[in-house]
Amino acid sequence: MSKQTEENGFTGAPQDLLVVRPEFRLADIDPGSTPGFKGGKSDGQAILAKRDSQLADLQERLFAEGKGGGKRSLLLVLQGMDTCGKGGIVSHVVGAVDVQGVRHAAFGVPTEEERRHDFLWRIEKQLPGPGMLGCFDRSHYEDVLVPRVHGLINDDELERRFSSIQDFESRLFENETRIIKVMLHLSKEEQKERLAARLDNPAKHWKYDPGDISARQQWDDYMAAYEAAILRTSTAYAPWYVVPADNKWYSRMVVQELLVAALEGMDPQWPSASFDVDEEKARLAES
Ligand code: AMP
Ligand code: MG
Repeated sequence: MSKQTEENGFTGAPQDLLVVRPEFRLADIDPGSTPGFKGGKSDGQAILAKRDSQLADLQERLFAEGKGGGKRSLLLVLQGMDTCGKGGIVSHVVGAVDVQGVRHAAFGVPTEEERRHDFLWRIEKQLPGPGMLGCFDRSHYEDVLVPRVHGLINDDELERRFSSIQDFESRLFENETRIIKVMLHLSKEEQKERLAARLDNPAKHWKYDPGDISARQQWDDYMAAYEAAILRTSTAYAPWYVVPADNKWYSRMVVQELLVAALEGMDPQWPSASFDVDEEKARLAES
């Protein structure tokens, strides 16, 4: 549990409660639940606002460490069905961090050029550099979800992709990128309400994609694909967290807590000055 978890309203550490273990079944997780948190929406929102600066401070340290020659970085991978709240996490959680320390990338339907390469090609190009907080809005996981649901790849190819993903993520870990993978687990009913709200509001039409209904019609296939991918690729070095997402305030505060706890664990260090501080003070006084 992070140092301040208890003061911040959690009764249990989300990273322990929500991490995927071998016996994981998606159907066992209620998207409307709020594991480890007893409060309601206003309590959650207050905590979220209060912890913004803590996340920003920790990330500033990581960024400084990177400027000082450190290699470490942190990568947040966000997955979930349409309207699950990925965008809100980006703006309300990651958005609290100084933009210069964030590398954000959203992955849509692959372009023709991207399709000519291995599925990890476009992902590698967006990895966070030293000191950065990387944030993936969708990711390499789309390539073991969409083609599977559409019957475009067979079991052998799916297995090959799972192995590539594991090799890729273990290589990232070796290169000092800490990875946090989050599935925002939304209920089909809540998605219907959110899509209806988008259709009712002209200011939200830009977020609506008629293709969202097609994916919705294959909901159970997507859930099966998610469960298989998560089970197959949740590892000690790149764990999956399945976060109930019907309450946006809850999923946001959980992702914030996962990031804070990860950064506290990394304990990034301010780089020491590359100059003699006293000498520089003397020079400044004389100038
Ligand atoms: P959004 O995240 O709502 O902007 O939508 C992006 C769309 O791109 C979603 O429908 C994704 O399923 C789709 N997408 C992203 N990556 C892939 C991929 N590798 N293969 C097929 N569809 C993808
Ligand atoms: Mg969408």
